[in-house]
Amino acid sequence: MKKTYLDWSGYDSYGMGDAYAGIPATGGAYAKAVAVCMNNKQCQRTGKGVMCPSFRVTGDPAHSTGARVNAFKAALNGELGEDPFLHPQLAEAMDLCVSCKGCKRECPSGVDMTLIKAEYLAQRRAAGGGKWRETLFARLPRWLGRGLPLRPFVQWRNRSPLLARLLERATGISAARALPEPAAEPFTAPASGSGERGEVILLVDTFCGQFEPGIAAAAHRVLTAAGYRVRQALPSADDSEPQRPLCCGRSYLAAGMVEQAQEEARRVLSALRPALAAGTPVVGLEPSCLLALRDEFLALGLGEEGLQLSKQAFLFEEFLARAHQKQPLPLRLRPLPQRALLHGHCHQKAFGAMKSVRKLLALIPELELELIEAGCCGMAGSFGFEAEHQAISLAMAEQELLPTIRAAPADTLILADGFSCRHQIAHGSGRRAIHVAELLAQALDTGTPALEPSAGS
Ligand code: SF4
Ligand code: SF4
Repeated sequence: MKKTYLDWSGYDSYGMGDAYAGIPATGGAYAKAVAVCMNNKQCQRTGKGVMCPSFRVTGDPAHSTGARVNAFKAALNGELGEDPFLHPQLAEAMDLCVSCKGCKRECPSGVDMTLIKAEYLAQRRAAGGGKWRETLFARLPRWLGRGLPLRPFVQWRNRSPLLARLLERATGISAARALPEPAAEPFTAPASGSGERGEVILLVDTFCGQFEPGIAAAAHRVLTAAGYRVRQALPSADDSEPQRPLCCGRSYLAAGMVEQAQEEARRVLSALRPALAAGTPVVGLEPSCLLALRDEFLALGLGEEGLQLSKQAFLFEEFLARAHQKQPLPLRLRPLPQRALLHGHCHQKAFGAMKSVRKLLALIPELELELIEAGCCGMAGSFGFEAEHQAISLAMAEQELLPTIRAAPADTLILADGFSCRHQIAHGSGRRAIHVAELLAQALDTGTPALEPSAGS
């Protein structure tokens, strides 16, 4: 291993004590990140919980976090030959890892397999093993942002089983899945709001901006109603593509395209520089995108600014729940006498962000909120769209999530902040899940009926 693509210096000081044994011979701090595993096999436990969905669904220890650690140790110890990152043993070990961060949260040693996998994919790509389907998914935000007419094509593909099958043959994208259709108009909004409680920057991700602009509009409305001046994060004046919306770069990391992820992260930093200097909070909606600013950005070598952003970036619910705790929000919410089932995105759970969702929803009078006790929805970005993974993706959702939703009466609201989660729920149950921001915006209305939540999407 000649070099690492991500910044692993956070692990530099690991392994100084006697108890930290088994650090692989090569890989430096990356090897130390792998070797934090203490092999107690907690990732192979059964029963309810987040960790580790691939083990839980297969029951096979070979698909647990610990087995992945062992495969990496073998690779970094030179046991997998000259090109360890191209070795099938490593590919098999990583095949069903959905980068859910369950291990980062629940493993007693905090093994961060999501980040370890990103480095693995970068190494594999550098060794010539990148897959073009991964590149296709990785570039999607860029193509959408450049205004390519993907919507009519996706609509055509979704309505034509023949085209879907042909595309599956050519690309490996499952014909059994409807693809998310880009919105007719992406989200955009001028700065607005009284600002009596200050200013916030709304960082609209690709999914809310390009596919479900209603979510960004709802968040905008709630934040302004809460007394904030809301300004959408836009590319800086010196951006080489000022018309292209900002993107967290997660899709690139998921393909091991670290340079491109860094490029996207720098665009975000450049756009947010004035906000960072002024201490203005940055608020986001899609958990995997916003939390990338607090997590993956720190491994991209972005320096002090990256660190500063990680302290100023909040999920919509985190921001409002904290603000309400300091000083009650001036939100006038009408009663919604309905039951709501809430599914947490894996990354929300990994960052302990579900508490703030509950706190915020407690502001809606008469809402009867219940958390779905489920692990990963199984969709996990592109994973559920991959023909060879689509069945196992659904099997993950069938463990708890889909049966719970199917058993809920039709007038029950289904809440899920994750774009992938909503898509999996729609595919597997025919029920439409909504973002928490949409529910709050609905509760702001006076005189309009409660949401009709459960129609198929
Ligand atoms: S990965 Fe974590 S939970 Fe699994 S064996 Fe290692 S230390 Fe234990
Ligand atoms: S990221 Fe998720 S799927 Fe991958 S090893 Fe960790 S818990 Fe398992």
